[in-house]
Amino acid sequence: MSLNIIRPDLRSLPMSKTLAVSALANQLKSEGKEVLNLAVGEPDFDTPDFIGQAAIEAIKNGETKYTLVGGTLELKKAICHKFKRDNNLSFTTDQVMASTGCKQVLYNVLMATLEPGDEVIVPGPYWPSYPAMIKLFQGKPIIVDCPREQSFLLKPHQLDAAITEKTKWLMLNYPGNPTGAVYSKADLLNIIAVLKNHPHVWVLSDEIYEHLTYAPNVFYSIGSLDAEVGERIVTANGLSKSHSMTGWRLGFCGGHPQLIRVLTNVQSQSTTNPCSITQAAAIAALNGDNDIVFKFRDAFHARIKHFVEMLSDTKLKIDMPHGAFYVFIDVSAYNKDDVAFAESLLKSEYVAVVPGAAFGDPGHVRLSCAASEDELEEAAKRIKKFLATLD
Ligand code: PMP
Ligand code: GLU
Repeated sequence: MSLNIIRPDLRSLPMSKTLAVSALANQLKSEGKEVLNLAVGEPDFDTPDFIGQAAIEAIKNGETKYTLVGGTLELKKAICHKFKRDNNLSFTTDQVMASTGCKQVLYNVLMATLEPGDEVIVPGPYWPSYPAMIKLFQGKPIIVDCPREQSFLLKPHQLDAAITEKTKWLMLNYPGNPTGAVYSKADLLNIIAVLKNHPHVWVLSDEIYEHLTYAPNVFYSIGSLDAEVGERIVTANGLSKSHSMTGWRLGFCGGHPQLIRVLTNVQSQSTTNPCSITQAAAIAALNGDNDIVFKFRDAFHARIKHFVEMLSDTKLKIDMPHGAFYVFIDVSAYNKDDVAFAESLLKSEYVAVVPGAAFGDPGHVRLSCAASEDELEEAAKRIKKFLATLD
């Protein structure tokens, strides 16, 4: 049977690599192998109880019907409250909306704005879904390499050089997946200075790891730093990482009210509102204090420090990440490329990691430290055993 029915440009669309490696690890696990899955970026903590309780209450109260497409008014108010409290961003309820995960926020924005051939600047290493989504909407990802030597950060002159009349978006993600890179206030002001000269360029700022910023680094939301450029910034966020709520699927964004109206209309033609019960949970999460979020942050930071320390006597090149919960390791001192390295490590020691090629940076692998202390300790042991076979 011919599958010509499939759009030619989508025939080769890859499955999300992070999810694919994780699925393979879980399959090996179900076959009885003792797999350590450090592939997927998913906090291992239970969702805090007060959030779960709010969802249970919502079910009991019959909050099980369609809601407003962009979320209930109460949720929108909670999102505005969060943006003001954490980010010094002042949005009214017509400037925010909720979606089924931050992934859908990004998807809605790119779907609603990209025309064939439009360019989107993506600093690399990048989260693999960025270029994939841009291509899905027939845009052109313009990858700007930001290697370890420049702390994985986009430099203003690189941004300036990458902008053309076709540029529609700059996608920023900090703390970054996979590198943990965090832009300082000064870095962001330098980026804003470039954007002032290019009024047609908008910024899609993915701040989903915001709360996982490790001192002395401080998180600043780029949208809060300049009123004029701020008009052209969509701030995207979600509860997956901050509140350990990956399965609940709740993301949100704030931006220009006309754009938010169109994003809402786009969403009304696809998934409608995010799950009503999840919305009740999200209200509790966003209106609650951030104590639990900071507790998670401190736990991740301690795990990362310990893990990096355990691997410090190898030839792996690892910098302490400034945020998020990944370590992005340069494996090039060993005689294997990143894909072969990840495959052999999974086959021989059952440790699942994602090859750097998926993030546009071969020569590296990404490990998620959102696993328990015990798992990380065991993983470090197995990795060292594996490295000994390569020496
Ligand atoms: N952005 C980045 C950088 C991510 O790593 C993730 C991971 N899932 C997302 C967005 C999407 O998160 P979610 O859809 O679970 O809210
Ligand atoms: N963002 C996570 C990761 O990078 C989850 C997987 C995904 O959504 O691609 O592992």
